[in-house]
Amino acid sequence: MWSRRARFCPLCSSALAIREVGGRPRPRCLECRFVLYENPASASAGLVLDPDGRVLLVRRAIEPFKGLWAIPAGYQEADEDPPAAVVREVREETAIDVRVVRLVDLIHVPDDARKPANVAVYLCRSAGGAPRPGHDAAEAAWFGLDELPGELGFDNGPRILGRLMAGGDLHHELAPRS
Ligand SMILES: [Zn+2]
Repeated sequence: MWSRRARFCPLCSSALAIREVGGRPRPRCLECRFVLYENPASASAGLVLDPDGRVLLVRRAIEPFKGLWAIPAGYQEADEDPPAAVVREVREETAIDVRVVRLVDLIHVPDDARKPANVAVYLCRSAGGAPRPGHDAAEAAWFGLDELPGELGFDNGPRILGRLMAGGDLHHELAPRS
């Protein structure tokens, strides 16, 4: 856990020491008693569909899963709600504007080397357009469900995109919109 490497209080810069707090050993400030809790980060991901039922993917330029395709995602800022985070992240990574439809999954990712996270996955719709890769993305493109990359990052394959395939509970979302 990264918190065990911390030596100084982020509030008052005094020394931290490991103490039992709430049933676990945690770094606590010896001066102001601030406790350095290590909680999962919050992230948002976009399952973005265009009017032709294609899904928006980015080829990741960073770890984890560098080089693999995945749905756009990123950490939530403290002053934005989860739907706002997904709209911003999709725009930053692909230059595509989306409308959030609804939450379709919440995935706990405990094994990310940077920090564990809870990822809120939102179904989003877009009018389409040509994606342009932004930060953290090497490429961005629309994929039909019959032409998806063979290997996908995170739980994207079975857990998320599988729900769009025939028989999945999100399959009806692919019906053409007028
Ligand atoms: Zn302190």
